[in-house]
Amino acid sequence: MESARDRRTEEIVEAEDLWLLDDIDTTGYICWGCGIEMYPSAWQKGSKKRPSFNKMPGKEHINCDADAESTVVKQGQKKSVRDLLDSAPGLMPAGLRLIEKRPVVDPDATGSENNSRSARSASSTSHEGNAPTRQSRRPVNTIRQICRAFIRFPHDRDISLNIPGIDAHTYKSVFRKLRDPIQLYPHRRVNYSTLVWQKFEQSEDRLVIFLSGEWAPDEFGNPRPSRPYKLHIEWGDWSQAKRTLVRQELEVAKEEAKEAKKKRLSDRAQIFFIGEQNADNPEIFHVTDYRLICAIVGHIT
Ligand SMILES: [Zn+2]
Repeated sequence: MESARDRRTEEIVEAEDLWLLDDIDTTGYICWGCGIEMYPSAWQKGSKKRPSFNKMPGKEHINCDADAESTVVKQGQKKSVRDLLDSAPGLMPAGLRLIEKRPVVDPDATGSENNSRSARSASSTSHEGNAPTRQSRRPVNTIRQICRAFIRFPHDRDISLNIPGIDAHTYKSVFRKLRDPIQLYPHRRVNYSTLVWQKFEQSEDRLVIFLSGEWAPDEFGNPRPSRPYKLHIEWGDWSQAKRTLVRQELEVAKEEAKEAKKKRLSDRAQIFFIGEQNADNPEIFHVTDYRLICAIVGHIT
């Protein structure tokens, strides 16, 4: 599974969040649907696989909403599953709410850590109160789960989505594919484009990655990126853990895309981000928060 509940903080964590941690308590996670123990795998830094949470051998989920999600995902590829999404907390998030989740392991975190902590415990208490009833769609702390929902449920993109700073309010209108030719985009959106096969450029201040933009035939007539969009991930003041998370996800997405190509699937490494476009060099976008970028391999219809 892609997420589990942290036994200690009671928060739901995404498997990719494990890349932020130096030490993993492998007994520290339970299924957010039914409470059975879940153990993390592939969280080691340098792993070529995306981390996940798995049930212990011989254990089964018990009447579990989390376990039921995989069925909904399969159905959602073919038809609208609106009713199911409305009552599933995590499949199609209601919006984005950025809070510093892990002040304990992030020495760089500053500011309102006490506020966010008390807000969290208040909300998890109220969840426990209604545990038997089904929950409604919740906001999330990174764009990743929102982007997965966009890929997974093409027939339900009219569902509401609220992201601070974006003046559009459905999945369909919030997401924007970056187009050829390179152009200025006046409104803030969740942008996406495919990663092109060009080496990342890395320095103390930023990581630069290249996305599909303008193409031209090379000397053999094969299309080559002639003027790619460039994503400047401005990580100068990020902790090492946050840099590691972003690099790991990009490397893993490259591997996943290679595997998909071997299997002749149409899946590509899709980069999603919220960032500022550079007015003088419109092929450049700047991203300043690790929670506003993710890499997911998939096919967008
Ligand atoms: Zn379960």
